[in-house]
Amino acid sequence: MHQDCIFCKIVAGVIPCFKIYEDEHTLAFMDINPVNPGHCLVVPKNHAPNLFESDDADLARTMAVVRKISRAVQKALNPYGLNLLQANGPGAAQSVFHLHLHIIPRERDDDLRMNWGLKSGNKDEIAAVAEKIKEALED
Ligand code: 5GP
Ligand code: ZN
Repeated sequence: MHQDCIFCKIVAGVIPCFKIYEDEHTLAFMDINPVNPGHCLVVPKNHAPNLFESDDADLARTMAVVRKISRAVQKALNPYGLNLLQANGPGAAQSVFHLHLHIIPRERDDDLRMNWGLKSGNKDEIAAVAEKIKEALED
């Protein structure tokens, strides 16, 4: 457990939460500031600050629970849609530095600004960025 990590404290039961699901490796609980009703979070019990530093097995287990909870949210609330969100770094509006996936049920016209219109990109620019990422994979 990381001393100053609020989600480690929730995992340890030191801070209460509205728990939805728990198993040996993973915890799912309601977000205390829901953007829409049903907004919940899934975290690996082992601390990792973000996606970059996550453990393969923990991440795989977390994603399996994300799917399980998403199906339950879909069944229980029948939302208009459902988004997953996961932030890395302050620039991505990450505020809790313990890896977590947001499950966000959507409501019609909820004005959540995660949608971007489909605008054709510049193919040369797309190809150049793809090359840059592929090079980074080889490092
Ligand atoms: P981030 O911005 O890091 O992706 O999301 C952190 C989320 O954690 C926010 O949506 C925030 O509402 C939620 N959160 C922060 N502190 C607590 C807490 O003590 N309990 C619960 N249940 N959620 C929290
Ligand atoms: Zn933590």
